[in-house]
Amino acid sequence: GIRLKDEILRVNQMLDAAQIKFVGEGEFTLTNVSLLTENILSMCLKEAVNNVVKHSGATSCFISIEQSWKETVLTIRDDGLFKGEKEMLIEGHGLIGMKERLEFINGSLELLTKEGTTLIIRVPNDAK
Ligand code: ATP
Ligand code: MG
Repeated sequence: GIRLKDEILRVNQMLDAAQIKFVGEGEFTLTNVSLLTENILSMCLKEAVNNVVKHSGATSCFISIEQSWKETVLTIRDDGLFKGEKEMLIEGHGLIGMKERLEFINGSLELLTKEGTTLIIRVPNDAK
């Protein structure tokens, strides 16, 4: 598994290589989440940024992490154009994989496609 902080470094490099501006916000060193949850968040981040690079045509990608006492919210937003159907959440590959993994840890995935693409990923804090 990989820590979120390490995955952020990798996606920063991927976005750099694709000449998409990376804008990060929040503390990427997590507290109060288990290693399993952190690994799933890292995997979601990687899939989301893969999609930004592959599909969006964006000039910027905004990644933020917010932690409250009960949950952790990871948001990945780009200023490109969503190319799929909303049904992609049922029939896609990367997105459905993300959704399934998140449901396994009682998390959720929200897809907004109004201006560019926004993925809002919520997981309950679950550190032992
Ligand atoms: P895979 O993830 O298996 O390589 P994929 O990327 O096509 O395949 P999903 O990740 O599930 O599959 O995404 C489904 C579809 O939604 C994409 O094919 C694309 O059309 C659209 N899409 C997803 N993310 C974005 C994005 N950030 N910008 C534009 N279109 C997107
Ligand atoms: Mg994908």
